[in-house]
Amino acid sequence: MKILPLLTTVFLLSPVTTPFLVAAAHSNDFSRKSGFIQGREFASRRDANFRNALVPKSAGSTDEHRTRANQVAIVMPVSEKASTKNAQALDATQVRLLPGSPFYERQELHRRKTLASLEPDRLLFHYRALAKLPQPEGINAGYEGWDSGFLRGHMAGHYLSAASRMAATGDEQYRRKVDYMVKELAKCQDALKQDGYLAAFPTNAFDHLEGKPGDYGGVVVPYYTIHKIMAGLLDSYHYLGNTQALQIDMKMADYFEKRCASLDPEQWEEILRTDKSRNPQNEFGAMSDVLAELYEITGEKRHLMAALRFNRSWFVDPLAKGEDRLAGLHANTHIAQAVGLAHCANITGDPEERKASENFWRIVTREHSFVIGGNSVNEWFDRPGVEVGASLDKQQELPPTTAESCNTHNMLKLTARLFERKPNAEYADYYEQALYNHLLATVAPDTGAMTYFLPLRGNFRTYLNGTYCCVGSGIENTPRYNEGIYFQRDDSLWVNLYIPSELDWRKVGMVFRQEGDITRGETVRFTVVKAAKKSIEVNFRIPGWVSRPAILTLNGKRQEMEGKPSTYVSLKRTWKAGDTVTLTLPAALYLKQAKDDPSMVSVFFGPVLLAGELGHENMPNDFADKDAYLTLPAVAVPDITSSSHNPADWLQGDPNSPLTFTAHNTGKADGIIFRPLYEIHHQRYSVYWRIRN
Ligand SMILES: [Zn+2]
Repeated sequence: MKILPLLTTVFLLSPVTTPFLVAAAHSNDFSRKSGFIQGREFASRRDANFRNALVPKSAGSTDEHRTRANQVAIVMPVSEKASTKNAQALDATQVRLLPGSPFYERQELHRRKTLASLEPDRLLFHYRALAKLPQPEGINAGYEGWDSGFLRGHMAGHYLSAASRMAATGDEQYRRKVDYMVKELAKCQDALKQDGYLAAFPTNAFDHLEGKPGDYGGVVVPYYTIHKIMAGLLDSYHYLGNTQALQIDMKMADYFEKRCASLDPEQWEEILRTDKSRNPQNEFGAMSDVLAELYEITGEKRHLMAALRFNRSWFVDPLAKGEDRLAGLHANTHIAQAVGLAHCANITGDPEERKASENFWRIVTREHSFVIGGNSVNEWFDRPGVEVGASLDKQQELPPTTAESCNTHNMLKLTARLFERKPNAEYADYYEQALYNHLLATVAPDTGAMTYFLPLRGNFRTYLNGTYCCVGSGIENTPRYNEGIYFQRDDSLWVNLYIPSELDWRKVGMVFRQEGDITRGETVRFTVVKAAKKSIEVNFRIPGWVSRPAILTLNGKRQEMEGKPSTYVSLKRTWKAGDTVTLTLPAALYLKQAKDDPSMVSVFFGPVLLAGELGHENMPNDFADKDAYLTLPAVAVPDITSSSHNPADWLQGDPNSPLTFTAHNTGKADGIIFRPLYEIHHQRYSVYWRIRN
């Protein structure tokens, strides 16, 4: 998230045309000469009542001004709420973490400390101020930093998302706080008397986006923050059944639907065009995603149409063809757009949006990601294939500005939506990689503070002292640990992550407990606590990293299975309470070579990325502004001198400390301690190493 002044654009306002509800055009049929968009039908059309309409196009517009709403209208399941989902994530309403993993520890740290320290009345301060409602006694300010600046009010949305998830696992203090905040936000919305508008900043921010004069108060990315508020309210409804939150959200949707529909298509295109510079004038978050979610709740067609409005042809069309045009673009702006595309495509079945979201995921994970599963240098996507080489950012190699946390927060959302579309171990493998080696590593295990960037060679992490975007995403990340573990469809369950947890799978009446910490090399043990009354298929993921065949037992008896890496093994039976399954996933040390330089390597043990500790030299207090230390030089990272690419030949394990290794027979790297990146904090470290003979 960059703070940049909005490039002022003066728009010509034209009369409102039929905005987007009835159009049915596609690029192949676009006619500039006629002044009309020629409709055509998709083969997968479901709504027999839909008429293939012609829509007047405003003068001077070009094919760049088409909206996705125009193009996919006729595949929308208007009357049947159809879905192309083949699986569904099970979340904190049915999954809780059990002790015995770093995920549990960091979630509890945030539950008890980091999230608990946020005061609802301070999060509400700017909302009440705008609505001219009195502040409670002793509340004189909101939280400093971005939450009082250009992202004013974003933390309230993130807080609702985080606290709702904490509350869903039985935490009453968070339920009370969520209910209170929702009640107070409803008062603010009513007091504003602006047709459902709710924010912590005035509508001038949107006027400014639309090219109108006036003081916009420095709020340059208002839709970004609106998305967070709407998402927080929907989470309050989803996790806690808070219907007032849903009502607020629907009123907000009405306001923005009207506002967006009143704009000339060219003006709307200009506002949402984010590929013109590395720092787009408007990062609009995942508006499409949250409106699609609202549609799934309400079944109201207008909510889906509003979502589709945020899906842009200039983004979708090249991606649908598999073209990688991401170099130099602001990463999180476009990842959020891809989340919306994936969600909409899961609802509508639109083939272009399906392809575009899948290709985006493939392109980002294969061409633009580091070994931690994160992406971006100084918030931008680099050229395809650049990993350790010279980046677009001043030709620097692995500067301290790698891998913004928000990006991976959104990549996991995208991955979950794609898995729901097509259950596939490749998606789950990436989810695990990025969760263990990026998101888990963004949280300091002592203080709970979170990072913005995650340096990868010779630098240290800075833990944020303010209300940055990544703090907002960060307080959501820990309560979200519950939701990538299990997916379900009908009578099938997928076990994607091996994190100690208990699943109360209400739809089939089955309770399923998972224990054992694979990061410590332990066998995973599953126990059926309560059995369903019918046959259930359980699909266990065999991760891509297993070093030998996995071993699966059922009630102590070894099962014959193929169990190739990156596949699933299935057990289908009528389970009984007390049934146990054990899964042994052999892990070993191995190297991964960088895409652009095979002599640069990283060390893994199973799913866990190991980093080498490089001490505290020249280190200030690391709780600071996100940019405080970006100019401090990295320490030199010694090369590993070895002819062996098997790290077991030069890393000696510590018998008393799992996942701790000491380098030997490596020349200058001798003596360096390697440990999980997520366990190394408050010191310098390296993830990438040059290996030489
Ligand atoms: Zn961020």
